[in-house]
Amino acid sequence: MNGNPTIKRVAIIGAGIAGLSCARELQSHGLSADVYEKSRGPSGRMSTRRTPDWSAGHGAQYFTARDPRFIQEVQHWIKTGSAAIWKPKLKVYEAGVWRDSNSEEIRYVGTPNMNSPGKHLAEELSIQYEATISQMQRRSGKWHLQCNEIGDIPTLYDVVVLAIPAPQSSVLIKDLDDRASRITATAEMKACWTMMAHLPHQLTTDFDAAFINQEIISWICQNRSKPMRQSNLWTIHGNPSWSQENVEISKEDAQDQMLKCLTSLGFNCEDAEISMHRWRYASGGLQNPMNFLLLSDIGLGLCGDWLNGGRVEGAWLSGLELSMALKQMVD
Ligand SMILES: Cc1cc2nc3c(=O)[nH]c(=O)nc-3n(C[C@H](O)[C@H](O)[C@H](O)COP(=O)(O)OP(=O)(O)OC[C@H]3O[C@@H](n4cnc5c(N)ncnc54)[C@H](O)[C@@H]3O)c2cc1C
Repeated sequence: MNGNPTIKRVAIIGAGIAGLSCARELQSHGLSADVYEKSRGPSGRMSTRRTPDWSAGHGAQYFTARDPRFIQEVQHWIKTGSAAIWKPKLKVYEAGVWRDSNSEEIRYVGTPNMNSPGKHLAEELSIQYEATISQMQRRSGKWHLQCNEIGDIPTLYDVVVLAIPAPQSSVLIKDLDDRASRITATAEMKACWTMMAHLPHQLTTDFDAAFINQEIISWICQNRSKPMRQSNLWTIHGNPSWSQENVEISKEDAQDQMLKCLTSLGFNCEDAEISMHRWRYASGGLQNPMNFLLLSDIGLGLCGDWLNGGRVEGAWLSGLELSMALKQMVD
């Protein structure tokens, strides 16, 4: 193995689609991994907000599949009932004009919820939830992890995979490895303010979802147009530049600005119950994708959408390809 560490124990930090894909692929090669996730469930930015009255995907809205490996995976999700094709009536708003979208892309969503594929992948994996890794150190060829909720993690690892956004990876690897630090520092990620508007009645629109250009809002989508959803819930995303510029404003201010924009677009959300969410690292990444990063001499891997063109497909492939590179280290 040319000085590479022997891989017996792998820790994966982050149970988003990249971390889950990496863990699943490692498991299929007989290499089990311990996954640590700071939230209460899997899926990361493919997650679902739940209240007693409604639930809605408030991160990724749909995903596409172009790579044959991901197409095959999505077909498997469809067979197991955790995803389905979504055929929305799509519009585009630009320079004050509404038009039909001419996109013919096949779009998929998780079913019944956006986090369903993640939940499916998480089955049979060893995942510690509510475990935020706050520090990692490499001593005598092993990784020592520290966790906010648990303290020192007793297991020592040969390999650590960071399946988390670049800025969060950057914090963990600061002072540990210059090569990885340089790469995380070049990734640019932008925020996204998300509004969920639950209406007491159905809005009459002649579309299910719309891309909005040149406004502070970039996307509006009727939840019930997606398979297995019923509530009168609209998910609205702020555009990346506006969200990033306004990342530190209060939820109330973000809500006011987005509501004003909605009104100007002809949507009356006066009676709506509004819920806001700020995604600090929603989109973006490396300008020149590199799929994943593996520093085999120190047993450190990085994967995630930000290394591979963004989006759900890129994240899943990044995790898969890193696990295959790790497997080659063992062979
Ligand atoms: C608002 C929004 C809209 C989007 N729309 C689309 C879309 O329409 N189509 C599309 O394809 N993609 C979309 N995306 C992007 C898509 O969601 C992501 O590309 C993909 O989900 C990223 O997966 P990931 O595994 O790389 O990262 P993440 O999903 O971010 O997973 C990282 C995980 O690591 C956890 N974590 C972070 N730090 C720590 C730590 N220190 N310790 C433990 N756990 C930690 C997080 O809680 C998270 O669960 C959207 C994203 C957002 C936010």
